[in-house]
Amino acid sequence: PAPAPSAAASLHVRHRAVMPEWLALYYREPLELTHGEGRHVWDVQGRRYLDFFGGILTTMTAHALPEVTKAVAEQAGRILHTSTLYLDRHMVELAERIASLSGIPDARVFFTTSGTEANDAALLLATTHRRSNQILAMRNSYHGRSFSSVAVTGNASWSPTSLSPLQTLYLHGGVRSRGPYAALSDGEFIAACVADLEDMLGQAHGNVAALIAEPVQGVGGFTAPPDGLYAAFREVLARRGILWISDEVQTGWGRTGDHFWGWQAHAASGPPDILTFAKGIGNGMSIGGVVARAEVMNCLSANSISTFGGSPVTMAAGLANLTYLLEHDLQGNARRVGGLLTERLRAIAAGLPVVREVRGRGLMAGVELVRPDGSPAPEAASLALEHARERGLLIGKGGREANVLRIAPPLSLTVAEAEEGAAIIEETLRQVQHAEGKERP
Ligand code: PMP
Repeated sequence: PAPAPSAAASLHVRHRAVMPEWLALYYREPLELTHGEGRHVWDVQGRRYLDFFGGILTTMTAHALPEVTKAVAEQAGRILHTSTLYLDRHMVELAERIASLSGIPDARVFFTTSGTEANDAALLLATTHRRSNQILAMRNSYHGRSFSSVAVTGNASWSPTSLSPLQTLYLHGGVRSRGPYAALSDGEFIAACVADLEDMLGQAHGNVAALIAEPVQGVGGFTAPPDGLYAAFREVLARRGILWISDEVQTGWGRTGDHFWGWQAHAASGPPDILTFAKGIGNGMSIGGVVARAEVMNCLSANSISTFGGSPVTMAAGLANLTYLLEHDLQGNARRVGGLLTERLRAIAAGLPVVREVRGRGLMAGVELVRPDGSPAPEAASLALEHARERGLLIGKGGREANVLRIAPPLSLTVAEAEEGAAIIEETLRQVQHAEGKERP
């Protein structure tokens, strides 16, 4: 008799029968996770995995962090009302802390439930404030899946519709690895991108509302422009009153190691006008938000744009998580452990032609895989995910051609865990290289 399908397999069948086709699942046999602790998660069969993807950066600090669990349980047992119509102590305190951390003068904070919604709110603010629906965005960018956030998402394959409520002009600066930009020095690259920006502004119809950009492109494959690119853009934009929206959904809270926010690698001409965040701040609870100067935030005439806008439970979680990550200097940990991990990955990659590049900022490392002819190798990335999983490691993938392994563990990763994960990645990449059959002698 055929073996009985595992619990995860039958759940997979039910998932496919009832959920939309486009809701992608990782792995040939999708994972059902049952619990986690620290940097590890367990599946329904009891197998343990080291988590190098942090639930796509949502488990920012650690799985089942007792401080966050306690805050959630206490708040859930007390009151669960969800409306921005009443005062919430945790919400006000979290907003105060984020406002002062944001670097934006006279900052106001508005909470949402996702990054998409945060960008939606930012675009609503920018277009209203500037009375324009023209937006500048980066090629290869990802900002979410709502009608307005797909309209500024640079890659067609991440946009479920080509219809758009915004007039978007796409700029160079997101990806540099191929084409004429690859050969330029950092300074030349920045100058070329600024010239492109000026050219685009010349093609716009009057007012442009804002530039929206990720300091390090996340879904786009962890690609970062040279430090200072957005400062150079900012100078051009500020002269025309155009706002700068920094999408910090992946780069916020110290993930990049050297900085608390990604924009700080581009700080020479000051902070952005608007900053958006989400994912990790709730350590798994659903929080997003937008920070803006009061003058920009207060340009809306509606009296509220959300029922949730945070909730007592998610706000308590966010506050406990933020407190933990600041008290334990997880930004410093991201710098130190992330630096070691990226160095290790570079050493591993040196002998493997299947790896075109290892790039990283803090605990955000991308490993770009190519075929022997140098073209993108999405099949190698899929294979790497399967092999790593078999060895007990979860990683992600991304990039325009889905050929970049994305490594973004919880920020509390230890050196021993970084080494354990790197050893698995080494075996995995060797196996992938073997499959390509082109290992260097
Ligand atoms: N901005 C960026 C940079 C992101 O990476 C994402 C999610 N991958 C989003 C926005 C959208 O966030 P969410 O999925 O929470 O809506």
